[in-house]
Amino acid sequence: MENIIQNYISGEFLNPTTDTWLENYNPATGLAYSKIPDSGAQDVELAVKSATKAFPAWRDMGAEARSGYLWKLADALEKNIEQFALAESIDSGKPLSLARQMDIPRAIHNLRFFATAILHTHTETHEALPTALNYTLRQPIGVVGCISPWNLPLYLFTWKIAPALAAGNCVIAKPSELTPMTAYLLTKLCQEIGFPAGVLNVLHGLGGKVGANIVEHQHIKAISFTGGTATGATIARTAAPMFKKLSLELGGKNPVMIFADCEYDTMLATTVRSSFTNQGQICLCGSRILVERPLYERFKADFIQEVEKLTVGNPLDTSTKLGAVISEAHQKKVLGYITLAEQEGGKILTGGKAVYPKDCPQGWFIEPTVIEGLAYDCRTNQEEIFGPVVTIQPFDTEEEALQYANATRYGLASVLWTQNLSRTQRITKAVESGIVWVNCWLVRDLRTPFGGVKDSGVGREGGEEALRFFTEAKNICIKS
Ligand code: NDP
Repeated sequence: MENIIQNYISGEFLNPTTDTWLENYNPATGLAYSKIPDSGAQDVELAVKSATKAFPAWRDMGAEARSGYLWKLADALEKNIEQFALAESIDSGKPLSLARQMDIPRAIHNLRFFATAILHTHTETHEALPTALNYTLRQPIGVVGCISPWNLPLYLFTWKIAPALAAGNCVIAKPSELTPMTAYLLTKLCQEIGFPAGVLNVLHGLGGKVGANIVEHQHIKAISFTGGTATGATIARTAAPMFKKLSLELGGKNPVMIFADCEYDTMLATTVRSSFTNQGQICLCGSRILVERPLYERFKADFIQEVEKLTVGNPLDTSTKLGAVISEAHQKKVLGYITLAEQEGGKILTGGKAVYPKDCPQGWFIEPTVIEGLAYDCRTNQEEIFGPVVTIQPFDTEEEALQYANATRYGLASVLWTQNLSRTQRITKAVESGIVWVNCWLVRDLRTPFGGVKDSGVGREGGEEALRFFTEAKNICIKS
């Protein structure tokens, strides 16, 4: 494994200009295992210069040529899938099996999806007889910033850079300083396959420092950000008065509404996954489980039984279902929420404590935790915990389920379990979220719009929406 990570600017690997470095930790061991640049404004300046220089040629080579580069990068990634999966697991604490089955394959898919999507775009013509013909051009913006979080490192990094590059922009990207490794390894592949210099620039370092420098830079004209709601607000405060295009994919506190008529076995197995995949650190995980009262006791007993079967341990073991959470600070935060839940009158049905696996005694692990007995409007049920913690709560009527579901400031995703078609139509219309899964969870089609309402974000990613975000529409009116 690489132990020095460098910035990638103008097709070259560079140390940070100030030669200052940060430690990068393995969450399963609790130990630092590599160094990353503590980049700042001067590094952003270099990256912007390099991207600005590369932009005209990248834009003008045309969609087919750009598509070819992205496809080549996807092929290179696919050849190295094992190396990347292992790196992702070590860097983030997630089970190797998950990185192998979900994170890296999805990163490959992101690159291929936008490599082909850009070949199938079209724009409109408006003929206004007898006076004029209007047609619309969709042109790349120029130099854009992509800032991604630690929970799905390469998955979300590629989800942003792929449409930006496909559309003809040059990119300054910053992965989370907690999980920089796979973005770094991807830049190694870029160099190997001869990706044009300056088209993709990757800077490593702290969000509040180099991340903020990217947002503040006047030549970076759009920011695509995925992360916490508070960070999104900070970014908006800087970027909005500079009239930058902004896409903000933020936090969630997603409800799972389970009705007594659901297909029980599928619901139970899926709800275990939607609660605890990636240690609950997916913005789409369902953390508030609402169950129709006649089913409540049966669900509670079966759910606990299934949750207790989940093995927490060394992410590299094939039997591990939950690995480590991302950092010691995050472990403390999540455990703090479990204490808060108890203070608020919640009863811990299972879990609730840190775990110290034999072979990873210093790692940051937490038992999958299920809590009941809390009001829908208490802090535990209102604030994003982003860890392996869910609450369960009974409801009596459809109205009550919706009231609880919509009671938070967030509105990213929701899940509905029922066989009733009329109810499905009513609830999917009324629930306040950008994504609704009915009788499933995390089924993703990359053509669909992705994003949240309320404090979960502004704008949509995915398919056409992403290509629209990374281009400006220009109308051309020709007199007949
Ligand atoms: P943060 O908001 O802390 O960080 C996200 C990214 O922004 C990181 O690269 C971070 O860098 C950087 N950053 C931090 N501060 C600034 C700043 N002032 N200016 C510019 N960049 C900054 O989120 P987390 O990494 O903790 O990720 C977890 C959050 O992401 C959760 O709230 C989760 O719900 C949300 N999320 C949302 C998704 C969605 O699609 N809606 C998907 C996945 C996660 P660094 O890490 O180096 O500080």
